[in-house]
Amino acid sequence: MRAEYDDMLKKALNGARFTKEEVIFLLKPEKDEMDALFQTADRIRKAVFGDYVHLRGIVEFSNFCERNCLYCGLRKNNRNITRYRLMPEEIVDIAAYAVSIGYKTLVLQSGEDSFYTTGLLCDVIKRIKERVDVAITLSIGERDFEDYRLLREAGADRYLIKQETSNRELYRKLHPGMSYENRIRCQKDLKSLRYELGTGNMVGLPWQNVETLAEDIIFFREMDADMIGIGPFISNPNTPLGRFPSGTVEETLKVLAVTRLVNPLVNLPATTALGSLDSFGRQKGLMAGANVVMPNVMPVNYRRLYEIYPSKICTGERPEACRHCIEGIINSIGRKVSTGYGESPKSLRRGNAVCMMS
Ligand code: SF4
Repeated sequence: MRAEYDDMLKKALNGARFTKEEVIFLLKPEKDEMDALFQTADRIRKAVFGDYVHLRGIVEFSNFCERNCLYCGLRKNNRNITRYRLMPEEIVDIAAYAVSIGYKTLVLQSGEDSFYTTGLLCDVIKRIKERVDVAITLSIGERDFEDYRLLREAGADRYLIKQETSNRELYRKLHPGMSYENRIRCQKDLKSLRYELGTGNMVGLPWQNVETLAEDIIFFREMDADMIGIGPFISNPNTPLGRFPSGTVEETLKVLAVTRLVNPLVNLPATTALGSLDSFGRQKGLMAGANVVMPNVMPVNYRRLYEIYPSKICTGERPEACRHCIEGIINSIGRKVSTGYGESPKSLRRGNAVCMMS
């Protein structure tokens, strides 16, 4: 290993605040330095979270979307997808069932679908919280400050809104009709409302390079994110980016590991997309700095329809089988499923504990 790379990993263990140039350097390990990078990220993860892995059950309640992101199979102009929407009672029932099989956090996720008014979603959140003891993350895209405020008041604890890329030019190319500034505004609003904020990016996007990836990692730090979702870009033939190659597991793991070095206290999922590219992808992620897994809790008949990218794993599994399987995966690498809500350590420090039954 190069002495400079070894020094940089030692600095990470000592809590260094890296510059962009240093992050670029960390993102370019030589072959014989990769294991040391992953092991360092894993040591930092262990020092913060111990051997516990947090599970977040994902409820994909609508695959309608009014946006046209170039990489996404849910985009409005994709006619090769069967659309569905769940009614409020169904969402509440699925949420309650997920809690009954052991989930303490749920992510209510959809495309940007204005069918679900803020009032309707507030009602769903309240009904879930009245019925079961669970932390709720929303992943429903861009809304106004007042909407976010009402949803928080109704009991939403966390919000996931990935930036996908922090590079303005690339963001503009990938998101027709959307504004970089508004995306940032959403994240700042959510922080100001004391949500735990989840952001993130994709690795292997066309026109991306090591410099833009380093900027993403610094961006996560500047945003003071509580959770960072990092997944590979997976090319979907039903989108305008269908002719581009997918990202790789190796590249994604490097970004994941360096993100842990730069953002020691964040919750980092080993994503389903990583598991879709490699049958051991999630295990590899968990051993390269990740501490969260996000299994699907939807009934089987809906799972295949939420097709952001092709070849998604676990689309034929029943939720209880998925839950069992994921616990086996976690135990197989010597880790345990956490029985808590999995708050971010930053959030706990801010005194932002999950507000139950609100
Ligand atoms: S990435 Fe999100 S906002 Fe964009 S098309 Fe897909 S579901 Fe819609």
